Amino acid sequence: METIENFNKLNSIKPREPLALIPTMGNLHEGHLSLIRHAKKLNLSTIVSIFINPLQFGPSEDFSKYPRTLEKDLDLLRKEQCDFVFIPDDKELLLDIKNLEAPLNDVLCGKSRPGHFDGVLTIVNRFIEVIKPDFCIFGQKDFQQQLIIKEHLKKINSITQLIVHPIVRDKNGLALSSRNNFLSEPRKVKAAKIYFHLKEIAEQILDFDRGNHKFLEHIKIIKDFYQTKYSEEGFEVDYLELLNASSLESLKEGDKEILIAVAINYEGVRLIDNICLTRPIS
Ligand code: AMP
Repeated sequence: METIENFNKLNSIKPREPLALIPTMGNLHEGHLSLIRHAKKLNLSTIVSIFINPLQFGPSEDFSKYPRTLEKDLDLLRKEQCDFVFIPDDKELLLDIKNLEAPLNDVLCGKSRPGHFDGVLTIVNRFIEVIKPDFCIFGQKDFQQQLIIKEHLKKINSITQLIVHPIVRDKNGLALSSRNNFLSEPRKVKAAKIYFHLKEIAEQILDFDRGNHKFLEHIKIIKDFYQTKYSEEGFEVDYLELLNASSLESLKEGDKEILIAVAINYEGVRLIDNICLTRPIS
């Protein structure tokens, strides 16, 4: 694996094509590694970036606390036979950067974390400009993020295509996240309820479709019920939303692809998760 720390070196490498970029903020876990394995399965060469992007953290967020484990990350990447790791220098990366405004930004994490997705998109766009990968791979874990990047790539007619990989979970169902490190083991077990209830919501939506109910009324009932349930269980709900999975707009009667997305603050740790489901309607 070659380490790239500046644009000079980046411009000198000759990766085998097609090349896949996998942007990360480090503190790698099986979720990140699954993206690399997926690229390998598709016979893509891989460049993983490790950059804790200051632009995507709000003033009261956990930028300084974000786990930094570079040596361990590099070992993991070597074991996965990643081809390149890009660890850019902030000053060089941010110099004369074009600040972008993210689309699809007024709901979910975009609403709760003003400026977050502008910061994500600004940096991902910069990576794509300088690396020019054939593919970039993102996790479904950050559903809104991948949708924003997809929309952006379409808008700029980019040659880079997006690949989205399913969420990797621990044995109890908790979506893997670097922020899980802030939770004790018993709290991780309890946090698995977040996904447990998402699955219940998905099942209930599918059940309604087998009956003759008014879809939108039931969506509202489910949402209210589970908001209360999460709160009663000690989770502080930032949002629980059921939305059209392509537009992130409110659901309409005939919508088929539904995103169920949740953001929870649990013991001071922000946890997000989602399920995307297809209704069996014609
Ligand atoms: P992060 O380092 O948190 O910015 O994540 C880097 C990439 O890994 C993003 O595309 C995430 O969506 C993806 N990712 C993070 N956690 C998971 C997970 N549990 N399963 C699948 N992909 C993930």
